[in-house]
Amino acid sequence: MNIDLHYLNTNKVNLLNFDRKKMQNFMHLIDEKSFRADQLMHWIYQRFCNNFSYMTNFTECLKNKLKNTSFIQFPYILKEIVSIDHTIKWLISVQNGIIETIYIPEKKRGTLCISSQVGCPLTCTFCATGMQGFKRNLLVSEIVGQIWLAYQKINNNTKHVYFPITNIVFMGMGEPLLNLKNLITALNIISDTCGFNISKKKIVISTAGIIPALNKLSKICDVKLAISLHASNNTIRNRLMPINKRYNIQSLLKTVLRFLQNSKLNKNGITIEYIMLHNINDSIVHAKELIKLLYNIPSKINLIPWNYLPNSHLKCSSITKINIFSKYLINKGLMTTIRKTRGQDIQAACGQLTGNNNYKS
Ligand code: SAH
Repeated sequence: MNIDLHYLNTNKVNLLNFDRKKMQNFMHLIDEKSFRADQLMHWIYQRFCNNFSYMTNFTECLKNKLKNTSFIQFPYILKEIVSIDHTIKWLISVQNGIIETIYIPEKKRGTLCISSQVGCPLTCTFCATGMQGFKRNLLVSEIVGQIWLAYQKINNNTKHVYFPITNIVFMGMGEPLLNLKNLITALNIISDTCGFNISKKKIVISTAGIIPALNKLSKICDVKLAISLHASNNTIRNRLMPINKRYNIQSLLKTVLRFLQNSKLNKNGITIEYIMLHNINDSIVHAKELIKLLYNIPSKINLIPWNYLPNSHLKCSSITKINIFSKYLINKGLMTTIRKTRGQDIQAACGQLTGNNNYKS
């Protein structure tokens, strides 16, 4: 035990990287009982306390042990930008980069859109994050740190009454399934009753479809899935999303079907995200192909009006065309909704996240 403590003394750990199991292991390592892990998480994630000195139910001895072996460190907010529709975007500084976190207030819920990577390696042609390149995976502390910071900001906001955070979506920067290990630990913390205590029913992982990671995930834990399909055939998807050349539509949908067999959280079907792009994927022919693809996949389709990016040759489909496409799918029995675009004036909408700090607020 002494050897372990010596090791910890020279290499302090950030406790935000631990879910409950890891926190319990850590407590054992410093000769403390498991219930101290529950108490510590309660202080951090429910009472928003990051200072050991204020943890009043801890003995002085425990506080000192914690101070000598560990720390609680969040990334920090560089800038807050508020949209006319009250959406808030935070630019958050992490080691060698900037990530973005978006809060979207609605009538009966508050959704937080969080990032999983600094940049993104997928290079989807319609997405600003993808075009900007990839730096690295986020640490668990940086994933849960975004939520901790947002809670603080929403709770302490005096200018506007915001609905508390009720939903978390992994739809910010990055591909969450390429950061699987940290994603799973973060999910444990978000849904833990000693953590943020947000039900897994209220957490959505959006993915371009990394097949091996989906298979792994299916064996480890259940999550609510949104699949970025965006095309009705491989020719179009190859052009829009290079990852399709490795994992094509048919093999992806087969994997999704297998995932659904082991999933309780997706009983009402997964979400299929489909960006509407003028003259690329928005005709009735495409709608027909989409219906064929999804005939055996319990799903609801979310049509996303494409958000404009500078220097792109792409164009968003017209509202009329989106409505015709949507109505066609609905008439054929597919549950279909059109995503309301939020925070476009502050470049906080889907695919507009670049971590660009030069934006004028
Ligand atoms: N890598 C994950 C998360 C990405 S962001 C994924 O691919 O799902 C969440 C959603 O925004 C994805 O469906 C993504 O394809 C979409 N998106 C990206 N750029 C967009 C843009 N310019 N307009 C609208 N949606 C966009």
